Parts: sequence; C-alpha cells; structure tokens
Amino acid sequence: MIDDDTRALQAAVRGFVDRRIRPEIATWYEDGSLPVRELALELGQLGVLGMHLGGYGCAGTSAVAYGLACFELEAGDSGLRSLVSVQGSLAMYAIWRFGSEEQKQQWLPRMAAGEAIGCFGLTEPDFGSDPAGMRTRARRDGDDWVLDGTKMWITNGSVADVAVVWARTDEGVRGFLVPAGTPGFTAPEITRKLSLRASVTSELVLDDVRLPADAMLPEAAGLSGPLSCLNEARFGIVFGALGAAHDCLETTIAYARSRLIFDKPLAAYQATQLKFADMGLELGKGMLLALQIGAMKDAGTLDHRQVSLGKLNSVREAIAIARECRSILGAAGITLDYPVIRHSANLESVLTYEGTSEVHQLIIGQVLTGHAAFK
Ligand SMILES: Cc1cc2nc3c(=O)[nH]c(=O)nc-3n(C[C@H](O)[C@H](O)[C@H](O)COP(=O)(O)OP(=O)(O)OC[C@H]3O[C@@H](n4cnc5c(N)ncnc54)[C@H](O)[C@@H]3O)c2cc1C
Repeated sequence: MIDDDTRALQAAVRGFVDRRIRPEIATWYEDGSLPVRELALELGQLGVLGMHLGGYGCAGTSAVAYGLACFELEAGDSGLRSLVSVQGSLAMYAIWRFGSEEQKQQWLPRMAAGEAIGCFGLTEPDFGSDPAGMRTRARRDGDDWVLDGTKMWITNGSVADVAVVWARTDEGVRGFLVPAGTPGFTAPEITRKLSLRASVTSELVLDDVRLPADAMLPEAAGLSGPLSCLNEARFGIVFGALGAAHDCLETTIAYARSRLIFDKPLAAYQATQLKFADMGLELGKGMLLALQIGAMKDAGTLDHRQVSLGKLNSVREAIAIARECRSILGAAGITLDYPVIRHSANLESVLTYEGTSEVHQLIIGQVLTGHAAFK
C-alpha cells in the first residue's frame, strides 16, 4: 500500500524533525515562539509545503504521502504540523483551487518554497463552528473592494505575507487575498496560550481595507469554498494527531523500560503492559483508518464525512493516549523534559480547530439518522 518513494519521503521528514525540531522544541514551547520564517524556508526545501498540490513549484505527491508527512511533523509538534497545514492545505489550496492564473503565479511558487507565508481567516470572535454567521463584510466601491471585520484564532496571522480572508458580500461569501501591509490591515498576536505554544496565532483586523477587484478569488462562491479548504487540512490532522500519539507512546515505553519501581522495570508489570497494549491497538486501528482514508482520497472516492470520521477518531484517541502516557511517566510527565504533556496540551487545540469533535459527531449523526441536528 505504501511504496518505496513514499517511505523515503516519510523518512526524510522524520530526519528533519529529529535534526531540526526535537532538540529545540521544548525551548520554543516554553518561550511561546517559533522561528516561522527560518523553518518555512527549510520546510520548502524539504518539499512539504503544498506537497499534495500539482504545478506551481508544488511537489504533487499522493495524499497518503502528505498524510505520512503530517504524521512525522506532528510527532515533532502540532505547531509545526499546523504551520505546514495552514500554508499548504488552507492558504495555498485556496489559491490553487479557487484563484485566477495570475494569483496562482504570484503566490504559489513562493509559498511552496517557503519564501512567502500564508494564513487563512475564516473564524471570527463570535462565529467559529457556525461560520455562516460571519460579520466580516466586503462591499464594492467602484472597481475596488472594501473589507471590514475581525477574524480570530488565525494560525500564522501576524507572520503571513498574504491572508486568505473570507467575507460576506451581496453575492454571498467570497474569498480575498489581503497582502500584509495593506493599509487598515493589522494582525495582532494572541498571547497567553497554554496549548500550541510553538505556533503563531493572531487576530486579523480589517478596518476599511481597500483591495483591487482582482484580489477576489474568482472561483469560490459561497461557504463551500472555505469548507472545502478545511476538509483538506482536516485530512492532514487524521494522520498528524496519530503522530503526536505515536511520539507519546514511544517515549513512554522507553521510559517504562528503564524506570525501576519496587526493584522491577515499570514496563515489566502486567498493569503497565495492558495499558500499552490498548494504546498500541488504538494507534494501529487509527492508522489503518487514516491509510484507508488516504487511499480513498488518492482514488478520488473520498467523501468529506469520512474525513470527519477520521479526524474525530484520531484526535480523540490521541488525547486519550497522551493522557495515559502522561500518567505512566509520573511526576516526570509534567515537565517539558518529555514531549508528552506538550503533545497533550497541543491536542486540545487540535480537538477544537478544523471542526470540533461535536461538529464531526453531528456530521456523522446526520449520515446515520438523516436528521441535521446542528441547530
Ligand atoms: C490554536 C488555534 C488555531 C486556529 N487556527 C485557525 C485558523 O488558522 N483559521 C481559522 O479560520 N480558524 C482557526 N482556529 C479557530 C477554530 O477553527 C475554531 O476555534 C473552531 O472552529 C471552534 O470555534 P469556537 O472556538 O468559536 O468555538 P464555538 O463554535 O463557540 O464552540 C464552543 C463549543 O460548542 C460546541 N458546539 C458548537 N456547535 C454545536 C452544536 N450544534 N451542538 C452542540 N455543541 C456545539 C463546540 O463543539 C464547542 O465544544 C484556530 C483555533 C485554535 C485554538
């Protein structure tokens, strides 16, 4: 199912994470910082930015290869995978799928190389799970567009060179490319986060932001545009969350083998092994589901509701595994000396973004019953 090229690509991403991320991540996390510009260039060289897209400097890999890259990146840190997901699956995908040829030429090659960074502004302070209520508005003024509104919780916001902003117009929701530095556009960083600390999260404030007519993404009309982008990013999370869980389990098994309790390794107790067996089982089942979803995406038969199933399962099980591993580490588990509590805290964000668990349960509930229970 996984060919040699895909395995080689996965190994290259793992090597990058081992060399570049693992030695630094605890410090970045503690400081609440990530050297996004430097890393973006390195990730561009690695070929993972927009890797599953074709043309415009993108690698054009299979969906499974992209998923396995997300697995390895998130084994390093969910913040790293978020950087790559937002760049490739939200910002680049929106331009690639809905942009004009000029917009694609202008942004995609530089974004694939990590020379330009993108963000994706859909969520607002009062509208997260229900983006249809958005208040950000774009009105025509002659040939120009004028945007007003606030977006919230936007990954890469204050470091982005271009923001994909979704706004209500007289013709429904449309997407706009807002370059950094446009007068009236600011992106203050959100601080005091206790999850996804090694990731930039920002507000986007649009105050009479004037854009030329060609700033609009011509091919996206209505909410289906941004929702299709979210589906792309969710696909990466199906694999990514399992990467975080795998890192927790691997770390904890190694710890339990060397930690002596009552004169015996912790790993040699039946109670510990039962926990490991159950976690290994859930990880394995989650991986099989992820690979099946990946194979269906590559075959062109994947339905967005199946991605919901995968996101719900991967994140839920990853959180359970991270928590169990944290407790096996005892007091050591509460420090950044081990990656487990960092993954555990990160996964709380992953649970919430790209559709909360409840939203995905409601999507699956509708499939099972035929009744929409969102309202
Ligand atoms: C670190 C981080 C990064 C993010 N990055 C981005 C980004 O780059 N771009 C972007 O646009 N957004 C981003 N988001 C926002 C994210 O997508 C939203 O937080 C998410 O959609 C949830 O919205 P909310 O926080 O407003 O919660 P709410 O929608 O207010 O939900 C609150 C609770 O209500 C539950 N709920 C919602 N609807 C129902 C219902 N019908 N029935 C029962 N329960 C329900 C939810 O599951 C949740 O538990 C990010 C969020 C975080 C935390």
